[in-house]
Amino acid sequence: MSCKKAPRITNMLSKIVDGEKGEWLSKVVIESTKPYTYDAGNAEDRVIFEGKGVILNMPEGTTEVNDGLLREVIVKQDGKDNVLVKMMLEHPAEFRLEAFEGFPFRLEITLDRSIITKLFSGKKIVIDPGHGGEDTGGKGPVSLQEKDVVLPMAKNLEKILRRASADVVLTREGDVDISREKRFDLVGQAGADIYIGIHNRSCVGRNEDGVATLYAPTNKQSAILARCVQEGLIKKLKAADRGIAEQAELAMINEVPAIEAEVLTITNLVEEVFLRGLTVQKRAAEGIFNGLIKYFAQNGTYSKGDCS
Ligand SMILES: [Zn+2]
Repeated sequence: MSCKKAPRITNMLSKIVDGEKGEWLSKVVIESTKPYTYDAGNAEDRVIFEGKGVILNMPEGTTEVNDGLLREVIVKQDGKDNVLVKMMLEHPAEFRLEAFEGFPFRLEITLDRSIITKLFSGKKIVIDPGHGGEDTGGKGPVSLQEKDVVLPMAKNLEKILRRASADVVLTREGDVDISREKRFDLVGQAGADIYIGIHNRSCVGRNEDGVATLYAPTNKQSAILARCVQEGLIKKLKAADRGIAEQAELAMINEVPAIEAEVLTITNLVEEVFLRGLTVQKRAAEGIFNGLIKYFAQNGTYSKGDCS
């Protein structure tokens, strides 16, 4: 076979999609110039794809995905004309492989995310976007206000959690001020399993940056939940890890695990810019969500969580 004519893998991408029957799927798309022979199989926590008689026309290496099911995709040329794609999973999952003719030729590997919906089904989660109305919360060096950032983050998180079959209660939907007591009362009224406050860090020093998660000192599970969420946020945001700490006011919630995620530092000039971005607002929600998966997985059958 002449090298010029060999099929080449030119692009690879991953996304979360809804299937035709309403299934929730993680999808990996492998694009190439032409069809080639291939094989795929799964071991416990990975799906391995092998392309035969095909050349990799993109960089080898590892791409972090962290979508809750698919952790990373490792791509490499294996010998002269084989390509190996390893999809590393957080939990075992069924997969399906489909080919789509055309240019580019597309192979789609879909992974079943129902293991996540099983974890969240029946769970009730109170999400509390901090501040609101007169209470603006922290302020960025330019003009960003904490109350305006944490609300879209909370709504993004609500959306993912609902897709994952959880029951969600938001303490505020708009720009209104609610007392701490009222917010906390909702936990009992809703019969919630966990409480998640969303805030930003505010520091005196302009150079202070990063992410922290605070937890209720009264409920033992709160610290574990905080570790899970902190880890999820750090992985997604690639920000400085300011650790977890007790937050005395959260002691008012003692019946369920309660945390406050302090997503980036609004008083930092660079992080203020990040916080404005829709991508970071979305990633923050995904990071918290990944932490919640780990947290609930610890008590489930598919324990891979290690946040304690
Ligand atoms: Zn705050």
